[in-house]
Amino acid sequence: MELCERKAATIALVRGTDLDMSTPAGILVADVMGATARHEIKQKSDRQRRAQQQAAEQGKPAGGRRAFGYGSDGVTVNEAEARHVREAFADVMHGASLKGIARRWNDAQALTTAGNLWTHGTVRGVLKNPRYAGLRTYRGEVVGPAVWPALIDEDTFEAVRAILSVPERRTTLTTARKYLLPGLALCWKCGSDCATGHTRHGKRVYVCRANKCISRKADDVDALVEAVIVERLSRPDAGDLLATDNRDELRELQGKAAGIRQRLDDLATGLEEGVLTLAAVRKSSERLRNELRRVEVEMAATVHTDALGPLVDAQDVAAAWSALDVQQRRGAVDALMRVTLLKPETGRRDFDPASVRIDWRAP
Ligand SMILES: [Zn+2]
Repeated sequence: MELCERKAATIALVRGTDLDMSTPAGILVADVMGATARHEIKQKSDRQRRAQQQAAEQGKPAGGRRAFGYGSDGVTVNEAEARHVREAFADVMHGASLKGIARRWNDAQALTTAGNLWTHGTVRGVLKNPRYAGLRTYRGEVVGPAVWPALIDEDTFEAVRAILSVPERRTTLTTARKYLLPGLALCWKCGSDCATGHTRHGKRVYVCRANKCISRKADDVDALVEAVIVERLSRPDAGDLLATDNRDELRELQGKAAGIRQRLDDLATGLEEGVLTLAAVRKSSERLRNELRRVEVEMAATVHTDALGPLVDAQDVAAAWSALDVQQRRGAVDALMRVTLLKPETGRRDFDPASVRIDWRAP
């Protein structure tokens, strides 16, 4: 319009009279028409936003790309994909990794609805999407129940979300260990932890994870560490290793966690009843969730060392030890000692117990 005004152009309208931009009357009409158009556009986008919000409140699908596990209407369940989704939720509860799930979906030719291969990131997106618990979100907030059927219950959804958002828990769960010392034994040279590997002859070894500085036969190291623990716990003063009764500690942490969950519930109620604003609730709930996460991590550590109690009390420590599973044994090792794998003397072929350093942790 400024250009037309400067150049005194005449604007010819398909529907309507010509606007002569060299006259004040022409400019006035053009201004009015422009303002009317802007008003129209604004009203239209308001209407669209209200319609979207209303659809969200009624739990209707938002449109856009089809969600994995559902048909293009966003409501009908696509049974083949839905089965993958349900399995994935169950698998994460049992410690599966997102990478493994992505691999399985790709192997089964169940690609993303955009036709791409799955990655751990896109699988995470599915597992953290409230849609699968039958919840409708609007601008990132759950606004209520959706009209489509849920694929999993809300408790499972919440549990999986908790698993996926605690980094410590994620690593311990995804790498459920089969052996005693991977991740626990340290390399003497660089201080990295050791992973399990195999020699060409199929012998299991502990290898420095970061720099491959060392490789030690795993069975020998495991046997030595286990013998040392059983011997130490068989001594009359074994009880000294348990500085505090962590049952009390655990109970206290459980109480704390329950308190935090209660406060989170209260916040939700406050929001529902309109006593609290969304912004206030979001701020407090974030703080509480962080607090809860810390308590849960502490609880996991306490449960770990809990394996020691029965061992110390046992008449026959060796028998009690062999009754433990690998996770419990790892917990005991971790609570009791730091194991460092040293370089064996050159030329020596048999296993030298002195080549494994054991530092007891102060109780
Ligand atoms: Zn190393």
